[in-house]
Amino acid sequence: AVNRTPLIAGNWKMNLDHLQAIAFVQKLAWSLAEAKHAPADAEVAVFPPFTDLRSVQTLVAADSLPIAYGGQDLSAHDSGAYTGEISGAFLAQLDCAYVIIGHSERRTLHGETDAEVNAKVLAAQRHGLVPVLCVGETAEDLEQHGASAVPVAQLRAALAGVDASKEIVVAYEPVWAIGSGQAATPEQAEQVAAALRGVLAELLGDEIAARTRILYGGSVKAANIAAFMREPNVDGALVGGASLDIDEFSAIVRFKK
Ligand code: PEP
Repeated sequence: AVNRTPLIAGNWKMNLDHLQAIAFVQKLAWSLAEAKHAPADAEVAVFPPFTDLRSVQTLVAADSLPIAYGGQDLSAHDSGAYTGEISGAFLAQLDCAYVIIGHSERRTLHGETDAEVNAKVLAAQRHGLVPVLCVGETAEDLEQHGASAVPVAQLRAALAGVDASKEIVVAYEPVWAIGSGQAATPEQAEQVAAALRGVLAELLGDEIAARTRILYGGSVKAANIAAFMREPNVDGALVGGASLDIDEFSAIVRFKK
């Protein structure tokens, strides 16, 4: 939308090992170069598994590739006896710009609560990482409360105590649309994105709300990206399955409204 640089973000989930990551990022870079993709058209970010990040960093830094990257999660703690966890400090050291927080798979499969999501947002901010904060309703929530209620409540909870001067990206991802092939309609995405922007305005002020990017996620592909991008409150996409196919992801990144 006006004055907000679109962000197209690929969440690889637990796919692509570090060798596959290198091949993918190289192909993505070629595709961007071939399309003479101007950085201002859309920012591109990938979210590989943690074990790929060092390889991605090396590749991106060596050729100054116009590709941002980040972790799919981080610990709410900075260091210590938290076996298996990854600190935001480690991500920042690998030049991650972003970190996904509160993805529905973390909330559902790992029981992440709104309070934990909030603590992770604060941890990201402590380390200079931009949270890509995921919110979204299940099919049951949708039926019982409509589309906006749960995402709005999740956003409010996640923003408690945040530093408003630091950038946040919000991703609206209806759980029923993730990996289902059944995307929300652009109108549905717009309606919830507008409600989320209203919450940002209330909690962080109009100016910050106006510059915060709100992404849509849930079965985005090359064939439907343009329709989402035409909506005034949708500023990009968080892409799961389609971010693993280089041709499909390249086409999404090069969307034309
Ligand atoms: C996601 O997991 O963030 C996602 C949007 O997945 P998909 O694009 O596969 O629906």
